[in-house]
Amino acid sequence: MAHTTQELSSKSEVLIEKENKYGAHNYHPLPVVLEKGEGVYVWDVDGKKYFDFLSAYSAVNQGHCHPKIVGAMIEQAQRLTLTSRAFYNDQLGVYEEYVTNYFGFDKVLPMNTGAEAVETALKLCRKWAYEVKGISENQAQIIVCENNFHGRTTTIISFSNDEGARKSFGPFTEGFIKIPYDDTEALENALKSSKNIAGFLVEPIQGEAGVYVPSEGYLAKAKALCEAHNVLFIADEVQTGIARTGRLLAVHHENVQPDILILGKAISGGVYPVSAVLANNGIMNVIKPGQHGSTFGGNPIAAAVAIAALEVVREENLSENAEKLGIILRKGLNEIAERNPLIELVRGKGLLNAIVINSGEDSDLAWDICLRFRDYGLLAKPTHGNKIRFAPPLVITEAQIQECLFIIEKALNDFR
Ligand SMILES: *Cc1c(COP(=O)(O)O)cnc(C)c1O
Repeated sequence: MAHTTQELSSKSEVLIEKENKYGAHNYHPLPVVLEKGEGVYVWDVDGKKYFDFLSAYSAVNQGHCHPKIVGAMIEQAQRLTLTSRAFYNDQLGVYEEYVTNYFGFDKVLPMNTGAEAVETALKLCRKWAYEVKGISENQAQIIVCENNFHGRTTTIISFSNDEGARKSFGPFTEGFIKIPYDDTEALENALKSSKNIAGFLVEPIQGEAGVYVPSEGYLAKAKALCEAHNVLFIADEVQTGIARTGRLLAVHHENVQPDILILGKAISGGVYPVSAVLANNGIMNVIKPGQHGSTFGGNPIAAAVAIAALEVVREENLSENAEKLGIILRKGLNEIAERNPLIELVRGKGLLNAIVINSGEDSDLAWDICLRFRDYGLLAKPTHGNKIRFAPPLVITEAQIQECLFIIEKALNDFR
């Protein structure tokens, strides 16, 4: 039972020290310094190769530096990068047609980051509530779930219950009702509690909370309840969308079409910040010129990159691959769990998975295990203490999954 972890090279140490000295300490990265990526692999500054089992929080679903996506970016970057929306450009309309057809909505509102897209969806929902549903001004309420993660803006953290994300950032935005996740009874009660409910914002699987998969039927039931109360069902698929869970969207597992769909992360394959809010005309048309926007939202590079990234998802059958390999990964992890009681639980859908380490939330064990994974050539990170997320790029092969299962078991055995 060897608990010593590998020493960092001086090259890595120098670069980590720079971040420590000159960068705000708003993250706690695993100590590994990367300089190259290709497909499911990344390399550190000393040339050591790793499997990437985080995929930049599911932004790199198509694999690192996908040549088609990077090619689209380079080509567009050499012609036209930014016009702002003060003028038209030759890429945006083409992208808007493509992405709305792709996901089955009338219109898209393009933004850059996930948090901005969530903010956009909240504003859109409120405006719809006042101008279409007829709620009195400033009275709209949006229902959210406990342990949600929707980003880092002041309004979004207003309805977080992560103390670290909220402490000393108040005062907060009003107008949100928090209910337990995966609880349709609580949703129904909240919907009945007031005439001023405008929307229900939900992650189809709670990713940051530790990959909580709701019970079967939850999303379909929640959608039906929202419909019955004339309340917008808003799906935050920033992490679960774009083939990650074995379907194009996680809501497709239950044949649900949201009223508002929020996308980010993998819509660009991790190449460029691109996010999107999709809705039909009855909702999206409440936004008029000058009422919302972003200088970079819908820029020509973003448009070209997003089309390429979405084409790759189809051309390479990434949903099917995620579905198939997710089953193999969870089966392998469950077999390891039978041999090694350190794994308390395996859960997930498609290639969005987590293991729960049998150590309690406050232990450092999951962190130490991730350091050992790193030493053996696999990068993953704990989320909420004792959970480790396993979310490799969706281009991973079965042979590579088997190799990773071998690494995972070997590392875990060091801690028995
Ligand atoms: C990552 C994430 C966001 C925020 O996206 P950013 O691009 O980091 O602002 C929002 N919602 C979910 C579900 C996410 O996983």
